[in-house]
Amino acid sequence: MTAVTRAFGAAILVAIVGSIAGCGPATEPSAAFDNVVLVTIDTLRADHLGAYGYPRPVSPFIDSLAAEGARFERAIASSSHTAPSHTSIFTAQHPARHGVLFNGVRLEPDIPTLASTFRDAGFETAAFVSVRFLRGSARGFDIRNFHSKAGFRPAGRTVDRALEWLGDREGESGFLLWVHFFDVHSSNSKARPPADLLEEMRQDSRQRGEELERLLVNDQGIPTDFLAQEEQRFEGMGNLERFDRYDAQIASVDRELRRLFEGLESSTQDSRTLWVVTADHGEGLGSHRYIGHGRHLYTEQIRVPLIVYSGDGQIEPRTVEQRVQHVDLFPTIAELAGVALGPDGLELEGRSLVPLLDGVASDSAEPAFAQRRPADNLRLRGGWPDELVLVAEAERFKYILHSVGEDELYDLVADPLELDNLIGNGRPEEQQLAEWLARKYQWMVEHPLTGSLDEVQIESEYVEELEALGYLN
Ligand SMILES: [Zn+2]
Repeated sequence: MTAVTRAFGAAILVAIVGSIAGCGPATEPSAAFDNVVLVTIDTLRADHLGAYGYPRPVSPFIDSLAAEGARFERAIASSSHTAPSHTSIFTAQHPARHGVLFNGVRLEPDIPTLASTFRDAGFETAAFVSVRFLRGSARGFDIRNFHSKAGFRPAGRTVDRALEWLGDREGESGFLLWVHFFDVHSSNSKARPPADLLEEMRQDSRQRGEELERLLVNDQGIPTDFLAQEEQRFEGMGNLERFDRYDAQIASVDRELRRLFEGLESSTQDSRTLWVVTADHGEGLGSHRYIGHGRHLYTEQIRVPLIVYSGDGQIEPRTVEQRVQHVDLFPTIAELAGVALGPDGLELEGRSLVPLLDGVASDSAEPAFAQRRPADNLRLRGGWPDELVLVAEAERFKYILHSVGEDELYDLVADPLELDNLIGNGRPEEQQLAEWLARKYQWMVEHPLTGSLDEVQIESEYVEELEALGYLN
């Protein structure tokens, strides 16, 4: 046995809540913002942005925000599936507690969210979302502008709607604005990126030639033979063509995000706006021989970009090396905007990242947690094992628990691509992380914020949309 006790999870939570509520090692708000913009770019793995080392010219605008703001080198999503991950951002709870384990599931209305907390504090709350099936995660938004039919709304039209809302706004209140882009996700479908950007990427591929293939193999862990395969599932698209499409979609979102930023900053000149840019999860693209997302919890699936920026210099430029989690965003954004989390503090899984934004290293030793979505009948038919998959990611080692099959342990310093499974090698971290993970998960399922997870159903109105987006095949 390790020093970890059965109450470890709860004790950590109490400590975290204590610090948020001001009764622990209190952190005074170091900045206050009038407005907050949260941008989630669906399916964007961190290592495809220039700010995270990618050499292709895909993200000049996002890179500029990262250079002038805080960039978190290792931010971990709670899941590799869209609705569970977004719901963890909004609730600061992991999926086992908030109960949204699938797309199309509605978050229970009495669970506090970032939006409901800001709304209660007098902020106007508005969501502009490029798909319909995320409505169940958007509790607490006054303005709920979702794509109205199956499929997704391209970034340009989502930005148009958000800018129209900004132009029509009256009153002096601050706002919380959530903008969600789906274009990058669509690179695995028949949707085509803007022609000029796709041509730019193809030209870049031709110029780089074998250098690009070396990058994908060496830096992203994509097996050489996998790269050479023709993938018939998507219009006979070769794998290098897939990268061109994926990167062109990132470039299209980058261009539209710049337009949103310029429009918003010019219409809110007298107020201070906090920008938070992240992704709900990454994408396989061939790493671990898997193209999509949802099935695994490897680094390409759950390591996401996280950039915090303000135009007035309140967020100092820095790179934060310490690992953080999506569940940290709610308490962080609330503290930065001076919004209280309630008289008794909310029971949040996350902690405020404001000390890290101020350059103060945190002494928190709790690993990051992530959870795979359950396999449904269609996925079981597609070869997914019917198993629980959980992650405990500490600063150096990452443990992946499989309820069926062999667990995995990776040394993230020696093996950041997670290719060399060290399970059974007798490292002390193996037992420590396995025990922490088991207790963490047990605590969460014994303290759910929702009803029986067995009763969770995808509402029929979403089925058509999820099919159109390729989720159900
Ligand atoms: Zn997603």
